[in-house]
Amino acid sequence: MRKTKIVATLGPASIAEPVLRSLMLAGVNVFRLNFSHGSHEVHAASLETIEKLNAELGLHVAVLADLSGPKIRTGEVEYDAMELMVGDEVTITCKGELCRNGLISVNYTDFARDVRAGEDILLDDGKLLLRAVESDGENTVRAKVVQGGILSSRKGVNLPRTNLSLPSLSEKDLSDLDFVMKHNIHWVALSFVRSAADIEELRRRIAGYPEARSLRIVAKIEKPEAVENAEAIIRASDAVMIARGDLGVEIPQEQVPIVQKKFVRMCIAASKPIIIATQMMEGMINSMRPTRAEVSDVANSVLDGADALMLSGETSVGKYPVQTVETMNRIISDVESGGMYFPEIKYEEAPPERRISDAVIMAAADLAGKVNARALIAMTHTGYSAFRLASHRKGAGIYIFSNNRRLLCALSLVWGIEGLYIEKYTSTDAAMLDMRKALIARGCITQGNYIIYVSSIPIGTPGKTNMLKLSIV
Ligand code: PGA
Ligand code: MN
Repeated sequence: MRKTKIVATLGPASIAEPVLRSLMLAGVNVFRLNFSHGSHEVHAASLETIEKLNAELGLHVAVLADLSGPKIRTGEVEYDAMELMVGDEVTITCKGELCRNGLISVNYTDFARDVRAGEDILLDDGKLLLRAVESDGENTVRAKVVQGGILSSRKGVNLPRTNLSLPSLSEKDLSDLDFVMKHNIHWVALSFVRSAADIEELRRRIAGYPEARSLRIVAKIEKPEAVENAEAIIRASDAVMIARGDLGVEIPQEQVPIVQKKFVRMCIAASKPIIIATQMMEGMINSMRPTRAEVSDVANSVLDGADALMLSGETSVGKYPVQTVETMNRIISDVESGGMYFPEIKYEEAPPERRISDAVIMAAADLAGKVNARALIAMTHTGYSAFRLASHRKGAGIYIFSNNRRLLCALSLVWGIEGLYIEKYTSTDAAMLDMRKALIARGCITQGNYIIYVSSIPIGTPGKTNMLKLSIV
């Protein structure tokens, strides 16, 4: 059983039902709906198909909605492309004009208010670099081209050193959130997070909905401020994504690998899932085989201890979406079967009300290592014990039983967890017997295996794991 999960971004290359089905069978655990592209109608259709296929295939594939956040883009370019030469001076405006010779427009009205002389303005994933010479503080910024190239329409603008006054959620994000709250979506990601307050704001918006659905939040780390505020952001979020695409433009790209490793450790210590994203198998957008460097990147991210690895263009617009997932599945499985090399993690101390649960869960994980247990089995209502069990990164399979299908889907993102549906139970003994039967029937455990249950007695006391049982099948 593969431990490290696969997130696949949906797009024109993957939303047809036969492709979605193949992707699910190839091992996708989470689909990402990217709200920077695609209409609500298209997303709704994909959601319907995923739900149908989940039921048909008996899977709990999750859906992650990715909100664009405060992303700035250039406007339309006259004749679709313009060339910027080193040393050229350009005027940047925010009045919605066509970009043409010496003029670039951006879709952010306070651009000239925020940008100061000397600051960097990166265009198109950092391919072009401008430096602000002067700002009139109102409508225009004059800038010099430091690194030239061709600019086409609606390219991303990164301002790594500018203190942006943009709100963390745009009007579009709020309308997208409205869509998310009305559909069966398990995780929501926020782009360009700068502080824990951005996450708290999103959480307040979610809580404001009458449906009171649990929607877990992923903080995308792609701004220098987010790297500085790592601890507070991790605490405020339910999961984290290292969004290496924008991050590598916003901070020197040579720092990204270490930032990745540091975040993985911090997230494991906090029992918060962490996703590594962007360019993992980029070459497979156009080729049947990844490069050696890509294979190594996937392998090293597994060895770092990431919960999930994400595919973007590879599955959304690439020529070989299914082969990419199959290849990633093979790399991950092979690396994992060679043993695990995670660094020793110092876990954060639990708050008083969680101390018993955490001690029992830690003992279960310890015991799993000592007896080389095949399965760690738990029932959960809140998911707490599932997230905690996974964070110990043990070799045993983690089987989480719940009667909450939304929770089972949400857990698809988490390292090593397989979620299984169980009806409500009145006695711990009956539940344990049934869980064991279900796992034997699925071939997860067999005679002679050590298995460990963690649960709460009396049964169904949420968040109060207080029982540990070791037995042999
Ligand atoms: P994006 O996020 O694909 O939404 O830009 C991922 C990244 O920046 O790496
Ligand atoms: Mn990004």
